[in-house]
Amino acid sequence: MSRIPLIAGNWKMHKTLSATRTLLAELRLALRDTDGVEVAVAPPFTALAAAAEALRGSAIRIGAQNMHESEEGAFTGEISPVMLTDLGANFVILGHSERRALFGEGDELINRKVRRALISDLEVVLCIGETLEERRANRTDKVLRKQLEAGLETVKPEEIRRITIAYEPVWAIGTSVVASTDEVASAHAFIRKWVTSKLGEEAAGALRILYGGSVSGDNAAGLMALADVDGLLVGGASLKPDKFIPIIEYDGAR
Ligand code: PEP
Repeated sequence: MSRIPLIAGNWKMHKTLSATRTLLAELRLALRDTDGVEVAVAPPFTALAAAAEALRGSAIRIGAQNMHESEEGAFTGEISPVMLTDLGANFVILGHSERRALFGEGDELINRKVRRALISDLEVVLCIGETLEERRANRTDKVLRKQLEAGLETVKPEEIRRITIAYEPVWAIGTSVVASTDEVASAHAFIRKWVTSKLGEEAAGALRILYGGSVSGDNAAGLMALADVDGLLVGGASLKPDKFIPIIEYDGAR
């Protein structure tokens, strides 16, 4: 089954409104042809509307980096999925390791957010990945299985097209240490196999699995050449066009 590659940038807590407009204008100008690849950016909440405006008429998709699990309510400081679609978001990143580690988000909460996002017409990029301690203790598969089981607990096979899994080893995020091709290939194969056993071959065949963790223009092609790698989730390198564009153009085709 052919899956369109997805290259997505997670801006984290970076970019003001004017910086958002500048970066996206540069990206649009440089990327005249995005045939054969889907490109997406996930700016902070405050820049979503400006991003939607800057990307009007472009194929570049827009995502948020988090959301609350409810549609609305007395949740001071939170942002609901309805607000995200209203701002022009097409998808939401859920379960990023920074949300898990720094903001105490657990698998059950992440699953409730996944469910709500799907109800609210948002696609989901669900991040999973092991810490260095877990890898050293040979617990990578166990950790991935637990995060998949909990995160996708209520997801039906027909909903999988609206979900993307991002495998992001925590120790590779923002460290300049990229997982080896063997480590990436093995984790992605494990994820595809798990989804096949839970949701069936058709669902698993349609599922895009991204790799994330210190992706750069130098390693993008090698990662994308791996059988079960269907795209890349890019943090730091997505903040600068001269770093993000070579990743999008990993195969020299655009
Ligand atoms: C991320 O945080 O999702 C990420 C992949 O970051 P970086 O590319 O900076 O390692």
